[in-house]
Amino acid sequence: MGYYLVPPVYRPPSEAASLIFQVTLGCSHNACSFCVSYKGKKFRIKTWPEIKADIEAAKVFYHNATRVFLADGNAMVAETGLLLKVLDKLYHDFPYLERVGIYARANDILDKEPEDLKKLHEAGISLVYYGLESGSDRILKMVHKGATVAQIIEGGRKAMDAGLPLSVTVIIGAGGPELSEEHATATAAAASAINPAYLSALTMLIPEGSFMDRKLKRGEFKLLTPMQSLNELKIMIEKLSLTNCVFRSNHASNYLPLKGTLNQDREKLLAFIQRGLANPDLLRPEFMRAL
Ligand code: SF4
Repeated sequence: MGYYLVPPVYRPPSEAASLIFQVTLGCSHNACSFCVSYKGKKFRIKTWPEIKADIEAAKVFYHNATRVFLADGNAMVAETGLLLKVLDKLYHDFPYLERVGIYARANDILDKEPEDLKKLHEAGISLVYYGLESGSDRILKMVHKGATVAQIIEGGRKAMDAGLPLSVTVIIGAGGPELSEEHATATAAAASAINPAYLSALTMLIPEGSFMDRKLKRGEFKLLTPMQSLNELKIMIEKLSLTNCVFRSNHASNYLPLKGTLNQDREKLLAFIQRGLANPDLLRPEFMRAL
């Protein structure tokens, strides 16, 4: 059998050049109201013989791979023993491998013992992609995140205490215009409490057919205007308190691409947002925004 992936396959933008292996198919939660990524995909954890066969087939063609991403939605939900076998084989079969990234939900981390997380770090998981989305419990409930702010902070801190670097995402516009200020303030507080190595802001885009899409069509939810999005981002950046955290809003969903290190680049980022607020021509046009 050859190396193949079961579609659809998603990976973070920064893993665009990575070789992908599916440890799981779909997402064990599969309920976030803004997400249709795995709606038609029945969740399951792949077996070790299946994953082993994928790795053996891929190494024939991609022997020089330096980066691997473990998919699908939250591969960290897999049992630690399975993940350790996968990592061991990856670093053995790909001699140039430098890093392995993975998606995780709060419960995936909270369900593991600190020693297991340490073992995963030592075995070569080098970046955990972790969705905070919002620091407001009201908004997390509204988007069916399936975790509270306290759980997400606890999970994030637990992973970092085990040595696992985190890349945290937040969603601009997750609370709509009515909860914009609450979202900005609470999300800045929660992200600061985690204090990850990387923080990315995406801007809410609602896929056709999602629960949020139905709410939008019924008039029960509103998207932020580009200017409201920038204002929300501005408040968030003003209130973040981070240590050497690489902040990005360069995802294709955003109106303005920002990149800097927080807190040290705060003033530079705020000045750039201010320029965007004063000059809407600088913003990414609506038709070029994408997930
Ligand atoms: S956890 Fe991620 S993949 Fe799963 S439903 Fe939520 S946004 Fe989608």
